[in-house]
Amino acid sequence: MATIAFLGLGRMGLPMATNLAAAGHELTVWNRSAAKAERFATDHGAKFAGTPREAVGGAAVVITMLAADDALLDAYTGPDGALPALGADTLCIDMSTVSPGTVQRLSALVADRGCTFLDAPVSGSVAAATAATLTIMAAGPTEAVDRARPVLRSLGDPVIHLGDSGRGAAMKLVVNAIVHSLNGAVSEALVLAERCGIERTAAYAVFLNSAIAAPFVGYRQEAFEKPGEVPVAFRLELAAKDLRLALALAEQAGAALPQTRVNLEQLERAAAGGYADADESALADYLRRS
Ligand code: NAP
Repeated sequence: MATIAFLGLGRMGLPMATNLAAAGHELTVWNRSAAKAERFATDHGAKFAGTPREAVGGAAVVITMLAADDALLDAYTGPDGALPALGADTLCIDMSTVSPGTVQRLSALVADRGCTFLDAPVSGSVAAATAATLTIMAAGPTEAVDRARPVLRSLGDPVIHLGDSGRGAAMKLVVNAIVHSLNGAVSEALVLAERCGIERTAAYAVFLNSAIAAPFVGYRQEAFEKPGEVPVAFRLELAAKDLRLALALAEQAGAALPQTRVNLEQLERAAAGGYADADESALADYLRRS
């Protein structure tokens, strides 16, 4: 079992840290809003840390699950950042959805401290005690990915090694270009069904029993059927963030993402219309009211 510093107890980080604690790992937790970390420490017998720097002292593994690039960079390089406090040979694993450029930059900074950085973002849904529903896209040196596997397996399965630093982050943006396309397609098609006089739940029952019954469509059933009534699984603003990162990556890589451009435009309109902190499925509600 590993001594792990876990930074970021948001919608994903909280159940992930819970699964690590349940697997018997020794955790120190930090979160920007300290109350969440204090509560986690009390509930799971973990140590509470007031800053990322305090959290990583003595940890063999550091896991970050933060909203976006700026939060991740700040957790390592900000005034209370983890970088100067990393012990020798620490394995730093970022599981957030961020740009490949950011993870490569952090990988170099962490290597200067004699440690290793892996990008290992996740796809799927997570709840405490259902670790196996996450797929982990790992990138970095093979030896370090193998060293990380026992910890990663407490969080998800399969763990797929994609190559050098940055490729996990890139793959996650590739997957989410599709996920958010599905979200956009289901949103507008559901509203079309409703405008044709088809009951929402009946239309969704057809989705789930048709060729488009991807796991994502299943995960979001309740959210699409009862907008605003179920807990937010994925903030709409984070979906827009993913697509901005995917478009920037496509420009660097020389790929065209015409659908992604349209999907981002729709998400940005919905965010400006008051849905930024709603679940991304609220795009349907935005279209319903437009
Ligand atoms: P979330 O619920 O919004 O939580 C975000 C976390 O980041 C919280 O711990 C938040 O702290 C922290 N944070 C935000 N801005 C910060 C800042 N400037 N400085 C320090 N900490 C900051 O997001 P989430 O759904 O857990 O997603 C986390 C990451 O996983 C994102 O990159 C997301 O794209 C990715 N992801 C999400 C899902 C999903 O289904 N939700 C699935 C796969 C991947 P506070 O508690 O203080 O706000």
